[in-house]
Amino acid sequence: MINLELPKKLRTSANQAHQVAQEIFRPISRKYDLAEHAYPVELDTMAAMIDGLSDSGTQQIGGASGGRSSDSDSHATELLGNSNGGNMSALMNALETSWGDVGLMLSIPYQGLGNAAIAAVSTDEQIERFGKVWASMAITEPSFGSDSAAVSTTAVLDGDEWVLNGEKIFVTAGQRSTHVVVWATVDKNLGRAAIKSFVVPRDAPGLSVARLEHKLGIKASDTAVLLLQDCRIPKDNILGSPEVNVEKGFAGVMQTFDNTRPMVAAMAVGVARAALEELRAILTAAGIEVSYDTPANNQHAAAAEFLRMEADYEAAYLLALRAAWMADNKKPNSLEASMAKAKAGRTGTDVTLKAVELAGPEGYSQRELLEKWGRDSKILDIFEGTQQIQQLIVARRILGKTSAELK
Ligand SMILES: Cc1cc2nc3c(=O)[nH]c(=O)nc-3n(C[C@H](O)[C@H](O)[C@H](O)COP(=O)(O)OP(=O)(O)OC[C@H]3O[C@@H](n4cnc5c(N)ncnc54)[C@H](O)[C@@H]3O)c2cc1C
Repeated sequence: MINLELPKKLRTSANQAHQVAQEIFRPISRKYDLAEHAYPVELDTMAAMIDGLSDSGTQQIGGASGGRSSDSDSHATELLGNSNGGNMSALMNALETSWGDVGLMLSIPYQGLGNAAIAAVSTDEQIERFGKVWASMAITEPSFGSDSAAVSTTAVLDGDEWVLNGEKIFVTAGQRSTHVVVWATVDKNLGRAAIKSFVVPRDAPGLSVARLEHKLGIKASDTAVLLLQDCRIPKDNILGSPEVNVEKGFAGVMQTFDNTRPMVAAMAVGVARAALEELRAILTAAGIEVSYDTPANNQHAAAAEFLRMEADYEAAYLLALRAAWMADNKKPNSLEASMAKAKAGRTGTDVTLKAVELAGPEGYSQRELLEKWGRDSKILDIFEGTQQIQQLIVARRILGKTSAELK
């Protein structure tokens, strides 16, 4: 039988993340929405807290191992038939903190999208070295976004170092993170199979921030343009094998999405839940009750709409949980990760904008956070693969088509 209750060990960390969201993020949410590019100093307190918690070994809020199931989890899998490990824990944290403020969530030290990428493909030795870094993710370039196979940044081995050259745009936390996971090709003639990911320290010679973007939403998050000009990093900072296996294509680097897409889905679910809760309170104050005993079409139109949105929210939440659970239990989850991201990305924008509409002036004005959530949620349907790209992946997997057959 399926048990949809959160296990006890996850409840504690989810509650803790919720407290952070409520006590730290919500009170400063508008402040950093209005002060784009100002560094949220309050996050330093969080960084110290996270450090303390992981040093004491009592709790894991973020970090590269946040997306990795430990050996003891694998043992639990053998004994109990399933486990809730690093991915599930990271997912619950992402959801709860995004409920507070997704822009700030994306700025939490040690919880970058690059951390999930490191967790997905690193060796044990690399996890040791990069386990406590704050890693952003740099795939996108001026010449492409969705087509990840078009990476043109190069990585050339020179003795004991890789030398990287290229330009990366729209790097979330690109300025604040301590490390950047950069996608680059080791041989342009060998196509997508030659695309590898590299862990580049922010202070590596040749890496610089060209500028920060002004954006529609998630203004608390720094989005950077990075230049790699003869940027040198140690040879063993490559993630996964340096061998180019043309048969395997770029499955190696693409595997990172199996971990990161459920996380982004969880962020969208968190923002959607924030909007639903706020809308519910506004509807109740206006005398509109939502009933679960009466058919939707016999209720106030706003209540019927609320029920529809809540059903979408639940579906997105469950899809995200399934994708993370599969990752923790070492089951291939590319299809499920894309399904979760597609459903949650769309639900996030739909729910938040509908809430703006149904809440009337309170929805559109800056007195409440509804309008902000409407702006913030859009990116969750774009980065780590847009809505259309997720649907394409789902269609390919279900129909058994290759990327060449269905584009
Ligand atoms: C605020 C922000 C933060 C970001 N953070 C990061 C980050 O941390 N790291 C990083 O590497 N990138 C990041 N990105 C980049 C993001 O991942 C890309 O914007 C995204 O992948 C889409 O690429 P694109 O903007 O070039 O759009 P395009 O690929 O040009 O697509 C434009 C439109 O066409 C659609 N489309 C494209 N191909 C197809 C197709 N085959 N079939 C149907 N429709 C299609 C897309 O869905 C989209 O709607 C960020 C972007 C933003 C705005």
